[in-house]
Amino acid sequence: MVDILKNIDLKQYTTYKIGGSADLFATAYTEDNLKYLVRYAYSNDIPFDIIGGGSNVLVSDKGIRGLTVKNATKEIIIHEDINVDNFDIKNLKSFYKEGSYMQFEDLEDNESDYNKVLVEVSSGLSLAYLINDTISKGLTGLQYFAGIPGTLGGAIFNNIHGGTRLIGNLLHSATIIDMEGNVSEVDYDFFKFGYDTSILHQKKYILLSLKLILFEGDTEKAKNIQREWIKRKHKIQPTLPSCGSVFKNISDEEKLEIGAPVNSAGWVIEQLGFKGFRIGGAEVYRNHANFIVNLGFAKSNDVKTIIEKIKEEALKKFNLELTLEIILKGDF
Ligand SMILES: Cc1cc2nc3c(=O)[nH]c(=O)nc-3n(C[C@H](O)[C@H](O)[C@H](O)COP(=O)(O)OP(=O)(O)OC[C@H]3O[C@@H](n4cnc5c(N)ncnc54)[C@H](O)[C@@H]3O)c2cc1C
Repeated sequence: MVDILKNIDLKQYTTYKIGGSADLFATAYTEDNLKYLVRYAYSNDIPFDIIGGGSNVLVSDKGIRGLTVKNATKEIIIHEDINVDNFDIKNLKSFYKEGSYMQFEDLEDNESDYNKVLVEVSSGLSLAYLINDTISKGLTGLQYFAGIPGTLGGAIFNNIHGGTRLIGNLLHSATIIDMEGNVSEVDYDFFKFGYDTSILHQKKYILLSLKLILFEGDTEKAKNIQREWIKRKHKIQPTLPSCGSVFKNISDEEKLEIGAPVNSAGWVIEQLGFKGFRIGGAEVYRNHANFIVNLGFAKSNDVKTIIEKIKEEALKKFNLELTLEIILKGDF
């Protein structure tokens, strides 16, 4: 049994600090809690949704219907007994674009030749905790994702990018539950990972736990990458509430077509003259135009209206369809 509460304000569960209430709300502290809640929603015909750190979502001012679960599961198991040295790790350095807002080539460390270790992690564990904990146990590989808020589940959902890396490339396999409550084991190929996307954007499965391949790598180097990466991110990112980059960066083809010097969606938004543009309590961040910040009194609708205006102008001026990186939750 897990406590299910009514009309819980979701602001406190998102980094944006905006949005309405969940009709029903529960916190899952264990994977069994999570399974119970999915099955409870299914057997009572209630819509089910999940948030991890709430760092990539914009929750509607009207809230979310049905049951919203805050994922606070947090186990880590290091499987030293399972030999994964022959596991075919994907090309680690697969996400690098020239002329990005941030440079990180100098932080590159090819770890694929180190011994590999299988680490099983609950999907609700905070990524920051996981990075520190694994490095402290002599395991590297996650340092490129330092400074990114949220949980491992949210990170896999979107196949987050950090430095030259995509997190999906460290995935060995996962335990998932479908919306009818059936649990299964799936492998890397199941996820159909792409830039800021996975199969979970199209099909609703809930991640229970993830098995990652990490390395018995150089922990001093990893700590240095972690520190440097956070320092560089902090220089350009706002301290005001946000949910990170709002739009996905543009493709190489789009970059060519519009004659952009970089793939950055921030560059496009800046060219459209939106830096500092404000509606209600939401503003396009002046240092990095792909962030829309909450000045403290924003409504979700303010953010959504700015998003629509940017999309409209990008289409008009560049014939470019900008795609959202963030996930909208509830009715807009
Ligand atoms: C300041 C800041 C900096 C950021 N920097 C980066 C960056 O450098 N790179 C980057 O890629 N992103 C970045 N982000 C975006 C965000 O932090 C990541 O996408 C993060 O991994 C989201 O995790 P979360 O737990 O907060 O997910 P949430 O925001 O809670 O959820 C996001 C989506 O994942 C789904 N989801 C969450 N958990 C599960 C689960 N267990 N099973 C199935 N679905 C699930 C949710 O339903 C939702 O649709 C940044 C955000 C902020 C605020």
